[in-house]
Amino acid sequence: MRHHRFGPTGHDIPVIGQGTWYIDEGHRGEAVDALRIGLDAGMTHIDTAEMYGNGASENVVGEAIRGRRDDVFLVSKVLPSNASRIGVRAACERSLKQLGTDRLDSYLLHWRGSYPLEETFEALQDLRAAGKILSYGVSNFDVDDLDEALAIVGDGELACNQVLYHLQERAIEHAVIPWCKQHGVAVVAYSPFGHDDFPDVYSDGGDVLEAIAAAHDATTRQIALAFLTRDNAVFAIPKAARGEHARANGEAGAIVLDADEIARLDLAFPRGPQPQYLPMI
Ligand code: NAP
Repeated sequence: MRHHRFGPTGHDIPVIGQGTWYIDEGHRGEAVDALRIGLDAGMTHIDTAEMYGNGASENVVGEAIRGRRDDVFLVSKVLPSNASRIGVRAACERSLKQLGTDRLDSYLLHWRGSYPLEETFEALQDLRAAGKILSYGVSNFDVDDLDEALAIVGDGELACNQVLYHLQERAIEHAVIPWCKQHGVAVVAYSPFGHDDFPDVYSDGGDVLEAIAAAHDATTRQIALAFLTRDNAVFAIPKAARGEHARANGEAGAIVLDADEIARLDLAFPRGPQPQYLPMI
């Protein structure tokens, strides 16, 4: 598993972590096992959110990390509707309870809402001062949002920006990744398999993906993860409720593509023009 420095946190974390959206919806025991298999495979960055199953995903994560909390880089997210000074604190306490822990390694604003960013960041800084969270960051922030955030908190504060990034949605490469690199903010790629729309061999670019996978004795999804994390600033958090999926995703963290393979994938899954608005799901 490759590791890189996660923004200004001082932590080196695995390039592949574990998402948990909808992980509560199938068989709970299997989901807990999958997360533990993922931890064993080195995917110690676990991403969750109060939104996921109204706390049910956090609860599944809590069970999976019981007894091994110190091995995990644990991230949760506060809903914009709770991003007031009082709301952030209450949401964090609920998340800590669901997760069965006394601290989050990072706590993110899930997306921008109507509360002023100043108020949300003050609340996050208070939580950090109290030791409830060790760092904070944002999600679904475009460059203008990031500029605004930076003007409030300054450099060296934001741990990460968690954004949509997969082979068929490369919009963040235009401006968000360069901005984050310039300011030392980690980029966390969510829905790295397109949520539920991963290219097959018959789709555009699918044949190139298959050929590169065959050359590495890997799966196409493993090659996708290697491509998305080719830049040191980018981490990916695929969600896997099945153990065999978690194991495969963890193994992808060791795959390094060469320049020719990256160029072929770049052509097969073109970046496209910069959209007016940052895509999100
Ligand atoms: P995703 O990770 O792109 O795709 C998940 C799907 O891929 C599931 O159906 C999963 O199946 C399948 N899968 C996983 N590993 C596989 C493998 N090795 N082989 C075959 N299939 C595999 O989708 P996502 O859940 O939307 O995104 C990942 C995480 O990003 C979320 O869980 C969440 O933590 C985060 N996220 C954040 C935001 C945000 O706004 N900040 C938005 C969306 C997502 P099984 O589950 O059956 O194993």
